[in-house]
Amino acid sequence: MDGKKIIEEDKEYIAGTYARFPVAFKSGKGCRLYDYDGKEYVDCGSGIAVNIFGVNDGEWKKAVTDQLDCIQHTSNLFYTEPQARLAKLLCEKTGAKKVFFGNSGAEANECAIKVARKYGETHYGATRKKIITLKDSFHGRTITTLAATGQDAFHKYYGPFPEGFVYADATIESVLECVDGDTCAIMIECIQGESGVNVLDKQFVKDVEKVCKERDILFICDEVQTGNGRTGYLYAYQAYGVQPDIVTTAKGLGGGLPIGACMLFEKCASVFGYGDHGSTFGGNPVVCAGAYSILSRIDDKLLSEVREKGEYLKNKLSAIKGVKSVSGMGLMIGLETDKPAAEIAKKCIDKGLLVLTAHSKVRLLPPLSISKDEMDFAVRILSEVISQ
Ligand SMILES: *Cc1c(COP(=O)(O)O)cnc(C)c1O
Repeated sequence: MDGKKIIEEDKEYIAGTYARFPVAFKSGKGCRLYDYDGKEYVDCGSGIAVNIFGVNDGEWKKAVTDQLDCIQHTSNLFYTEPQARLAKLLCEKTGAKKVFFGNSGAEANECAIKVARKYGETHYGATRKKIITLKDSFHGRTITTLAATGQDAFHKYYGPFPEGFVYADATIESVLECVDGDTCAIMIECIQGESGVNVLDKQFVKDVEKVCKERDILFICDEVQTGNGRTGYLYAYQAYGVQPDIVTTAKGLGGGLPIGACMLFEKCASVFGYGDHGSTFGGNPVVCAGAYSILSRIDDKLLSEVREKGEYLKNKLSAIKGVKSVSGMGLMIGLETDKPAAEIAKKCIDKGLLVLTAHSKVRLLPPLSISKDEMDFAVRILSEVISQ
C-alpha cells in the first residue's frame, strides 16, 4: 500500500479524533523514520515520549520476541516472570514497595486516585476524598483523569464528571487555600508536558511535599511523560529532592508497547487488598519483558548523557533568532517563539524533522539515544523554520 491510500482509508474508517500530519511511516532505525516514499525523517518526538531508544531497537526487540516464543498472555489469575521481574526492578531503582500495572498513563493515574481515596476513607472516614491538582495539568483522557486535569478545554461535552477534584495555581498559597480536612491527595507533574513544558519551581514542589507530610495527605507525582530517563533523572521528582507517596509512569516505560505503572511507596504500600483493583492486560508478559530491557538500560551513564545532550540542545536552541524562551529539563524541551507552534511543526516535517507542540510551544522529546549529528540536524531545521 502507498502512503496516500493509507491516509484515505484512515480518514474513511478511523474516528476523527486526531488531526494527523499527512505522513504514514513504514520503517525506521533509531531516531530515523522512513515514510512510504522512502523520505527520511529525524525523530524529535519519540511517538510522544515513548520510544526511549528510538525504533527498531535490537535489545528491546529481542526481549519482546523471546517472550513471544514462550507465552504472550496468561491473565492476572497467574504469576508471570516478566511482570514480577519488572516490578522488582522498578522498586529497586526507586525505593517503591509495590507496583500495580495497567496499560496506559490514564490507567496508572486512575490507580493512584483509587489508592488515595481508599487511604483517605480507611484512615479518616468516607468524606476524605478530595484531590488537589494544578491548573494547566494533564492527567489523561478517561472521565476521571479528565476531571483531574486542570484545564477547562478538556471539560467540554463529557460531564458530569466525578466530584472531588480542585485545581490550584502552582503556588503554595493557592495549594493551601484548597487543602482541607477532606483532602486525601495532591497530584502534580514536576514538568507539565502537555501544557507547554512548564517546569515547576523547586521550592514549590518541596513545599507541597511538606504540606502533604504534615497533614498525612498523599503526594502523587504523575511521571507519565517525565519518567524513565526523559529529564536526565530516572524520575523527575528525583531532581527536586522530594519523596512522593505514589509515582505513576507509562509512555517511555514500555519502549513502544502499552504499559502503565503505579508505584506505591511505604505509606500506601498495603492500601490495596484482594479484589480492590484489576486489569485484564495490565502487566502483560510481552510488554513487561520489553519494559525490563528498557528500564535496565537507564543507568547513571545514560542519565548523565541525557543531561549533557539537553544542555547542548538548549544552548543551541536559545541562540536561534526568533526563539523567545527555552524551557525543560534533559531531553524534554519547550520552545517559545513568535510563530504558531503548529505551523512550525508542519514546516519542520516538510523538511524531514518531527517535532511536537504543547499549547503555544514547540516541544522536543527525542529518543534518549539521539546522536550529535541528529541534534545538529534538528537545530538547523528549527533555525531555518523559526528565523525564516
Ligand atoms: C500522556 C500523559 C498521560 C496520559 O497517558 P495515556 O497513556 O495517554 O493514557 C497522563 N499524564 C501525563 C503527564 C501525560 O503526559
